Amino acid sequence: FKPVVALVGRPNVGKSTLFNRLTRSRAALVADMPGLTRDRHYGEGRVGAFPYIVVDTGGFEPVAKEGILAEMARQTRLAIDEADAVIFITDGRTGLTAHDREIATLLRRSGRKALLAVNKVEGMRYDSAIAEFHELGLGEPHAISSAHGDGVVELIDTALAGL
Ligand code: GDP
Ligand code: MG
Repeated sequence: FKPVVALVGRPNVGKSTLFNRLTRSRAALVADMPGLTRDRHYGEGRVGAFPYIVVDTGGFEPVAKEGILAEMARQTRLAIDEADAVIFITDGRTGLTAHDREIATLLRRSGRKALLAVNKVEGMRYDSAIAEFHELGLGEPHAISSAHGDGVVELIDTALAGL
């Protein structure tokens, strides 16, 4: 059993940067994973002896501006369906947005294991960076920097715990 962890969030929050950090091999391992959708990027990572699959969502096709919300909702529903845990990434520099609230609502209603990550917080005070994200109702936000790696190991450990 390799748990599947999906990365969701609006464009530009750092999903692909986190994906690259969480995966070493990005080879075509989709072939032997029945049920996984082919229009997304899959990679394999490992914590200690424990391998996992990471799914990067969104951003592969240019989407019309008015279609971004619908596309994010579609990607989030796919992730909820196929992943054992979902990491919802937000941007601590931009702050909380209406689109973040929409994604959070889908995740809360799904009952799927979901973790909230506030990215790009390097050089910021973590407590103030994450403060406004508590209202999303997805538990304690994880302050991370995908670019620098801060908080990333703890995040994936928490995502995989108990799966
Ligand atoms: P995606 O659209 O969600 O896949 O986001 P990307 O991974 O493509 O990143 C969008 C932009 O945010 C890029 O310019 C990244 O270099 C930048 N970025 C990603 N992670 C971080 C981070 O931890 N800190 C900062 N400062 N920038 C980041
Ligand atoms: Mg991307």
